[in-house]
Amino acid sequence: MISHLLLDIEGTTCPVSFVTDILFPYAKSELSNYLERHQDNPSICQLVNNAEAEWNDDKDKASISLRLALEESKQPKYLKIGAYLQLLISSDKKSTALKDIQGKIWRAGYTTGHISSELFEDAHENLKRWHTKGYKLAVYSSGSVEAQRLLYKYTSKGDIENLFSHWFDTHIGNKKNQKSYTTIASAMACKPRNILFVSDNREECDAAKEAGCLTLYSLREGNPQIEPGEHPVILNLADVDQWLTPKR
Ligand SMILES: [Mg+2]
Repeated sequence: MISHLLLDIEGTTCPVSFVTDILFPYAKSELSNYLERHQDNPSICQLVNNAEAEWNDDKDKASISLRLALEESKQPKYLKIGAYLQLLISSDKKSTALKDIQGKIWRAGYTTGHISSELFEDAHENLKRWHTKGYKLAVYSSGSVEAQRLLYKYTSKGDIENLFSHWFDTHIGNKKNQKSYTTIASAMACKPRNILFVSDNREECDAAKEAGCLTLYSLREGNPQIEPGEHPVILNLADVDQWLTPKR
């Protein structure tokens, strides 16, 4: 019997375009201002130092040339690091320091009301209904747990963070790895067969199914991937209900 709903975010409860067209451009455009405003804040200084350490170890040609070009410059440190982070953004490179700083910028953007998340039209009512029916709701997304919580706290239709009882990001393991789903089941004190996992990514569904979860493939307009493989397709979160055993 299904007791836990484990939900991906992008392409499942939230349009991919919110992340690509709003969240990331917001962090990019706010980066320099944010670093300047917080240059005396110790926790931000720590993140700036982390970025500097990553830069010193970065063997990429463009990163090295930028470092040499700015070495003699009298610019304040936050400007130099800002330039490096902009380079990482434009070359789409993975960086823990960048991810951490983006997280801080999003938090500031959400809490000051400059951004709010736009979920799929059907997301709120279905999430609330499942929660009321007693299903445990959990998130599994590659965005950090902090970013996940912000996204559900500051939606354009209000705060629904409290509907979720478990939050998982890639610290628990890769989303395409079977073991991640057994680890998640243990963390939620249930069996994989008690979990219904919904995602718009076929490999993620494959891994969850191998672990023993029930899987559904979210097919939405604007999703980058549209190959469900053997996973049943849902077009809307209301479609999930037919896969849930009626609860008494
Ligand atoms: Mg997704």
